[in-house]
Amino acid sequence: MLLIEAGGSHRYARDYVAHVVFGEFLGLEFRIIQTNRPGWCIKCAGRRGELLLPDDFFSMPARMWLGHESLPNPPLAQWSYCLDDGHSSFRGILPVLFCQGESRLGRLTVAADSVRLDIDVLGTIFFMLSRYEEIILDQRDLHGRFPGGASLAARCGFLLRPVVDEYVEVLWRCMRLLWPDIVRKSSPGTVHVGCDVDVPYDCDARDGWRVLVSSVRDLIRRKHGGVIAKRVRNHLASRRGDYSLDPNHTFDWYMDACDKAGRRAAFNFIAGHSAGAVDGCYRIEEPRILSLMGHIHRRGHELGLHASYNSFRDGGVIRQELERLAATCHHNGIGADIIGNRQHFLRWDAAETADHLDEAGLEYDATGGYADLPGFRYGTGKSFSMWSWKRQAALKLRQRPLIMMECTIMSARYLGLGHGQEAADMMNKLKQSALEYGGDFSFLWHNSNLQHGVERELFLSLL
Ligand SMILES: [Zn+2]
Repeated sequence: MLLIEAGGSHRYARDYVAHVVFGEFLGLEFRIIQTNRPGWCIKCAGRRGELLLPDDFFSMPARMWLGHESLPNPPLAQWSYCLDDGHSSFRGILPVLFCQGESRLGRLTVAADSVRLDIDVLGTIFFMLSRYEEIILDQRDLHGRFPGGASLAARCGFLLRPVVDEYVEVLWRCMRLLWPDIVRKSSPGTVHVGCDVDVPYDCDARDGWRVLVSSVRDLIRRKHGGVIAKRVRNHLASRRGDYSLDPNHTFDWYMDACDKAGRRAAFNFIAGHSAGAVDGCYRIEEPRILSLMGHIHRRGHELGLHASYNSFRDGGVIRQELERLAATCHHNGIGADIIGNRQHFLRWDAAETADHLDEAGLEYDATGGYADLPGFRYGTGKSFSMWSWKRQAALKLRQRPLIMMECTIMSARYLGLGHGQEAADMMNKLKQSALEYGGDFSFLWHNSNLQHGVERELFLSLL
């Protein structure tokens, strides 16, 4: 049992970060003791020794809390460390987000009965997991999203690193210096793959009218006649229930690949149109979609919610869409439990979206990445209980951070690396980084981006 002595300010936030770090990530029993002593002090019941950590973040003057002047100021100091426990050494360089007063050049002091680590590990982790900066900064892109490029992690060059996991590892190694036989929960990370079903089929081939309208459009644009012929053939085959000619109908290939790699994919469906056409051209009640959802469920893959464009600040919309998806499955004999979600366009408001998803009864969300940049928005690949700014407490809802979306890397709208070696290297590097400290690698790959051999090869390499 660990005894964690913590200062009195921001008690609920301190409880939260201790719960995630010591309880969820390290799997240790702990108790928090409120003190007036400055800094964090971690002891092990019935054992000698204490681990001392500074308390720069939570002990800031109350007037600064959630204000611009409380944000770290780039460029950040870098701490080059080497932790040696006699068996192995663990070394690296960590960005230092919070550091008041002197520069604390040593940062690590090991004595017989104490270890002093002069890095505010717990304050930094709260800063990352709560998305503190996203509450303060008002930059937003065209879709109202906080841009990855505006994050401290991107500006200081650590977005591609699971910096929270690295901080936890340093903390753990310091605890091991004091109590060499202490045991933590250890589980290797895994790969989570998800598919947001934005465009399940070629919408222009859905019915005769759409085929006609799109063909006229293509003629005006002087497109190759083959495009129109293909669409007509797809339309006629689809009417007979044969979807093999539809370029977006890659679901069986997707599931075969996941089965072979031992992965259970989550297919997230849009169950409402809060923003009209931007929420896709299908309805989940269509026979074709019902049959697809039943097929996915029977094959043992997961069905999830892809909450629509305008839902991220509207709990009522999220609840309605979840109920509609669950009821549609139920009435059609699809016995799937809908427990997961990802927001369409990754639209997210750190001040409230998690609360709405939690209130709707979802167990986890997988939105946690940026559309414009891949990497670790929360500084970790591990799933964790989300912080609620409204309730000042941990939610039941867990975040399963999204480390990359395929179009962020490939599409010209974002990084524009295409399908070549540079894209493959970046994707595989992200996977490696996510798994390095026992985190998970969660990625999103749309069914509509598997039409070419190169896309399929990249997808397979990540499974
Ligand atoms: Zn989407």
